[in-house]
Amino acid sequence: MTRDRWPGAALIDKPRHFIAGDWAAPAGGSTIDVEDPATGERIGAIAAGNAQDIDRAVGAAQEAMARPVKWLATERQDALLALAAAIDAHAEELARIEMRDGGKPISNASRVDVPASAAILRYFAGWATKLSGETTELSQQGGARGFTLREPVGVVGQIIPWNYPLMGAAFKIGPAIAAGCALVLKPAEQTSVSTLRLAELTRACGFPPGFINVVTGAGAQAGAALVDHPGVSKIAFTGSTATGREIAAACGRQMKRVTVELGGKSPVIVMPDADLDAAARAIATSIFFNTGQTCSAASRLLVHAGVAGALLDRIARIAGSMKIGRTDDPDTQLGPAISAVQRERIEGFVAGALATGARAITGGDLREGPGYFVSPTVLSDVHAQAAALREEIFGPVLCAVPFETTDLDEIAALANDTPYGLAAYAWTRDLSVANGLADRLQAGTVRINACGGGDLSLPAGGVKASGFGRENGRAGVEAYTELKTVTMAY
Ligand code: ADP
Ligand code: MG
Repeated sequence: MTRDRWPGAALIDKPRHFIAGDWAAPAGGSTIDVEDPATGERIGAIAAGNAQDIDRAVGAAQEAMARPVKWLATERQDALLALAAAIDAHAEELARIEMRDGGKPISNASRVDVPASAAILRYFAGWATKLSGETTELSQQGGARGFTLREPVGVVGQIIPWNYPLMGAAFKIGPAIAAGCALVLKPAEQTSVSTLRLAELTRACGFPPGFINVVTGAGAQAGAALVDHPGVSKIAFTGSTATGREIAAACGRQMKRVTVELGGKSPVIVMPDADLDAAARAIATSIFFNTGQTCSAASRLLVHAGVAGALLDRIARIAGSMKIGRTDDPDTQLGPAISAVQRERIEGFVAGALATGARAITGGDLREGPGYFVSPTVLSDVHAQAAALREEIFGPVLCAVPFETTDLDEIAALANDTPYGLAAYAWTRDLSVANGLADRLQAGTVRINACGGGDLSLPAGGVKASGFGRENGRAGVEAYTELKTVTMAY
C-alpha cells in the first residue's frame, strides 16, 4: 500500500503560508496536526498562523491592489480560466489530496470536488468582463449626467469550513478575483492542504503576486486576526452559525462588509402525488453524500403519512446498499466524518433521539474505529423537541416526520419551524402545490422536485439563522463590489 506517498506530503512536511505569490515561513513556530479521517493517522502538519502572519498577508494584498498598473478584467478572466485548466491538469493529484486530508471517497473527490472546483472558477471567470454600473436619467434641468461605478470592495478576508475544501476555496476565489479584489483566504484547520496546493498552482496562471494569499491556522487565532484586521474591507465567511454570529458581530463593530453563509436544517416535503423513486434517490444523495457534511443537505423529511412507509423503505434500501469503507477503494461511496469530535457529535444526536422515542429505520448503530465512520441513518418518530430534529447534525442522519394534512399553510408551518432558512425542498407533480409552497417556505433557496445545491448561475444563501448575503450568480460577484455614484454637470 502506498498511503505514505501521497501528493500532499510535500506541502505539509514543512508548514508554510502562501503570501505574495510565494511560500512564506510562519512567524511563530506552532503547528496543527493534519490527519487522515479514514485512519485517524497523523500525516503532517500545517502552520498555526497568528496575527503577524495575517498582517503580512493583508499587507501583500493591499500592495497588490495599489499597484499603478491595473490588473485588467480580461486578465483576471484569463487567470481564473488558467487556474481551472490547472485543476484539470492536476485532477488526480488534487483528488488524492482531498481523499487523504478530508476523508473523501476517491470516487467522490474525483467525480465531484475536483471537476466542480474547475467549473466554479470557469463560471466566475466570465463575470470579470461583465460587471458594470449604470447610467440613469436625472430629474433636473440643464446638462447633467449621473452614473454608477462598480468598484472592488477592497482587500477581502475569506474563511471557509472543512466539508468541501477545494470547492470552498474556488467559491471564494472566483467571485473575489472576478470583482478585482485581492484576498487572504484562511482554510479550515482540518483541511488546508488542497487550498495550499491551489495557491501554488496560481503561480503559473498569471495572478499578480499578492492577489491570492493563504494563511493556515486555527479559527480563534488566524481567523479572528483576519476578521479584526483594519486593512480588510470585507469578510466572507462560510461555516457554523455559532462562529458566524461572532464574526458578523465583530464586523458590525468595525463597520466591515460581511457575508455569512451558515448552517441549515433544510426540510424536504414529500406530497402524496410525488414520484417516490426519484424523491428517494435525491433525498438519499442529499443527506448521505459527503457523509452528510453538506450545509444544504435535506435533513428533515416531512412526508405525507399516505406515502411515508413506501418512501422510507426506498431510502432505507439505498442507505443499506451504500458501500462504506476505505477512501482509496474506487467503489466506496461513504467515507468517514471529518474528525473524532464530529463523529461523537453525530452519535450524540442519534443516541439522544433514540432515547426519547425515535425509531431507527436503518443505521443508528455505532461503528468501531479506526477512522471516524458513521452508519447512514434514518430516524422516524423523532420527538418534536429532540436536538436531532432541531439542530444541524452535519452527518448522514435523516429525521423523518410524517404529516396527515394537505393544507399548505399547515405543511409550510411544519417546514418553517426551525431557526434555520438555508434551503427547502418539495416533491409534488401539482403546480399549484409547488407554487403555493414556494411562496410559503422561509428559505434562501426553494427547489421543487430536487434536493441539494443548485446551479452556479443562481444566487444561494440563507435567511434567519442561516446567515445573510448571497453567493453565485450576479449577486455573488456584486457582493465583492461597492457602488460609487458620480454626477457631472456640463
Ligand atoms: P466547525 O466548528 O465545524 O469547525 P466553524 O464555523 O467554527 O465550524 O469553522 C469554520 C471556519 O471558521 C474554519 O476555517 C475555522 O477555523 C474558522 N473559525 C472558527 N472560529 C473562528 C473565529 N472566532 N474567528 C474567525 N474564524 C473562525
Ligand atoms: Mg485532515
